[in-house]
Amino acid sequence: MSDFTTILNKDTFSRKDIIDLLNASPEDRTRLFARSAEIKTEYVGNVVYFRGLIEFSNICEKDCFYCGIRKSNRKTQRYNLTDDEVLSAARFAWENNYGSVVLQGGELESPAFTGRIEKLVKGIKALSEDKLGITLSIGEQSPDVYKRWFDAGAHRYLLRIESSNRELYYKIHPHDNTHSFENRMQALYDLRNAGYQLGTGVMIGLPFQTTGDLADDLLFMKELDIDMCGMGPYIEHADTPLWQFREQLLPLEERFDLALKMIAILRIMMKKINIASATALQAIDPIGREKALKIGANIIMPNITPGAYRNDYKLYENKPCMDEEAADCRNCLEARIHMSGNKIGFNEWGDSLHFKEKDKPA
Ligand code: SAH
Repeated sequence: MSDFTTILNKDTFSRKDIIDLLNASPEDRTRLFARSAEIKTEYVGNVVYFRGLIEFSNICEKDCFYCGIRKSNRKTQRYNLTDDEVLSAARFAWENNYGSVVLQGGELESPAFTGRIEKLVKGIKALSEDKLGITLSIGEQSPDVYKRWFDAGAHRYLLRIESSNRELYYKIHPHDNTHSFENRMQALYDLRNAGYQLGTGVMIGLPFQTTGDLADDLLFMKELDIDMCGMGPYIEHADTPLWQFREQLLPLEERFDLALKMIAILRIMMKKINIASATALQAIDPIGREKALKIGANIIMPNITPGAYRNDYKLYENKPCMDEEAADCRNCLEARIHMSGNKIGFNEWGDSLHFKEKDKPA
């Protein structure tokens, strides 16, 4: 048996194994993807769940060096959807049998903001007879705030650690009170304590990042015993500080390739978690998200933000589907998902099986 096959057949991967898998030749990569696809089919099935993505605001107090909506980017036109706009986007998801929505936005911390999200979560529950599942992705908040939103009806939360390597974290974020690696890490524990299905993730192909860092990221997710993951390629944005390092980056196709390998390896390591097919994959390859669904991802987040605002939620360059409305997205996606050999879990929450089975007695 080749070394590569020996690794693929292991029960648990060491850091070195993961690095070898990330460095797989094109031929070995095909075997990695075949294995991860097989595991996906066996453990979570070839069903893709929808999370209608509502990017409710790009107003952000943070200044992350990679992100187009960072506080210091004066070129971004700031917007904040009205409550009615958020609720009608959620109604679209409900009427189109999406099963769940994600509220994502810039990061703010204030009593008014907390109250607003709480009201929106309750509003979404009310308009859908309690049936729409709700994922939040609104950054670091206090344990009390997490609890309030959970009690209001949100039950999943995605907070990417961005990089589990503290040193790298501080190369891509300012090092100050608003950007603390320790606080972000603590927030993950707070989310779990509040009762959420816990999601995290990283960007892949960041400047200064090594395959060793990526291997550590996967081991970190395993150790934290996450329920969900959203990770995708880093894509440079001209109006951000990291732009100056663009010449050091891997070519886009290599970042894409690494991102797919990360998804495949994680699916083998954590068989029953939910893995999102990140939108950033599609910024590089027009059928990037479908490729990820084929080899391990099982969640997709169709953008249902009203079209007029999409241009302003530009975390990175080349973000796909900027000129579309939610209904166009739906038609286009259905065809794409069927092409990837999956069916759509309409009207289902598609909760993390990993999470559900944690409470079961052994
Ligand atoms: N404020 C929320 C949501 C942030 S946007 C939070 O902090 O959780 C969601 C994700 O987009 C971020 O976590 C980050 O990983 C990703 N992102 C931001 N800029 C990016 C870029 N230039 N390339 C790729 N992904 C990016």
